[in-house]
Amino acid sequence: MLLGCIADDFTGATDLASMLVKGGMRTIQAIGVPAGPPPDDVDAVVVALKSRTIPAQEAVAQSLAALAWLRAHGAPQVYFKYCSTFDSTPQGNIGPVTDALMDALGTGFTIACPAFPENGRTIFRGYLFVGDVLLSESGMKDHPLTPMTDASLVRVLQAQTRRRVGLVRFDTVAAGPQAIRERFAALAAEGTAMAIVDAVSDADLGAIGAACEDMPLVTAGSGVGLGLALNARARGRLAHAATASALPRVSGSGAVVSGSCSVATNAQVEEWRRSRPAFRVDALELAAGAPVVRRALDWAGAQLARAPVLVYATSTPAEVRAVQARLGTAAAGALIEGALSQIAQGLVALGVRKLVVAGGETSGAVVQALGVQTLRIGPQIDPGVPWTLADGATPVALALKSGNFGSVDFFAKALEQLA
Ligand code: ADP
Repeated sequence: MLLGCIADDFTGATDLASMLVKGGMRTIQAIGVPAGPPPDDVDAVVVALKSRTIPAQEAVAQSLAALAWLRAHGAPQVYFKYCSTFDSTPQGNIGPVTDALMDALGTGFTIACPAFPENGRTIFRGYLFVGDVLLSESGMKDHPLTPMTDASLVRVLQAQTRRRVGLVRFDTVAAGPQAIRERFAALAAEGTAMAIVDAVSDADLGAIGAACEDMPLVTAGSGVGLGLALNARARGRLAHAATASALPRVSGSGAVVSGSCSVATNAQVEEWRRSRPAFRVDALELAAGAPVVRRALDWAGAQLARAPVLVYATSTPAEVRAVQARLGTAAAGALIEGALSQIAQGLVALGVRKLVVAGGETSGAVVQALGVQTLRIGPQIDPGVPWTLADGATPVALALKSGNFGSVDFFAKALEQLA
């Protein structure tokens, strides 16, 4: 293992893992801290936690448990991954987790760099931009859990740690890895322990990746991961870079389970339904105790020999509001997630081996129901969504798509990619 990563949420972990694969690292994503050792043939492991918005103390404890596992299995470098919009509050969790990891690793200096230029997240003079506007003017200012009202990352991080926070400015980054390393040394010598690093392009990420190659702890969004992987590849450390995204072939039928009600997913369901078999799971029927799961599986069993199927609860905002008014928001969500994950289990029992799941929470429920502990990351379908191969007695290929990701023909495109 060349790189051991700790991600503060599930889809963020997948995002980083696909960046590492893109850079040439064979990567697996573990759901929580694994019980056993990683496979031999991986360059990077991403441990996915759900620690972004839990109390800081718990986030620290979970992150330290992940660190202990990664070190026990030989990770020479540790990467703490958070969101590219630096989602956090003055209580944490980016600062407290970074502090704890630095203490545990006995290291005096690290970086903090959520930049992801391809997705419009750039940092200039320590200020984070989302597209053309400052973080504090973006939609993130109204986030329900982690409202970001200050775009100065130095100030934001300084509020979360007693260590001193500094800045590596754009002009230094543009001067290349050697200049960046010299600035790191100068900052460390004057007592700065964490440096926000400016980055506005993929070239900057490459320079930062090269400058950080020997840093025991790197904290960043997913972008710097690509820089680190590309640097390792250029150094000849990734013998299997050309085939890093290869997955073993799976044979079996294909299916889609959709519980996301996002605009993108509604359009993807509509597109599929125009020419392909689909079964709608009705929330109110479920709540009334109708045998919806059995009906869905009977229907799918009859279809699957001919063509892949879609089972969906995806509904328009007005329909969702009506269901939520009758059942309550949380109860409706849990009821549907429960039904869709039973349907996913049933589909696998019917021989489905290529399964697309739409919805972040829905994906979490399905992965849990299938008892999946690790995912090997394969080729990208659309930005942020790779095919993965779930471990277990029966290997199942999973594509886990959160809400607004993917083109309108995502479902068919994903299944055709594995045909
Ligand atoms: P996204 O990634 O788009 O946020 P999620 O799966 O995370 O998707 O969240 C969607 C939530 O909406 C889930 O809890 C799901 O069970 C719920 N849901 C799905 N269909 C309906 C519906 N018809 N009415 C109410 N809630 C629904």
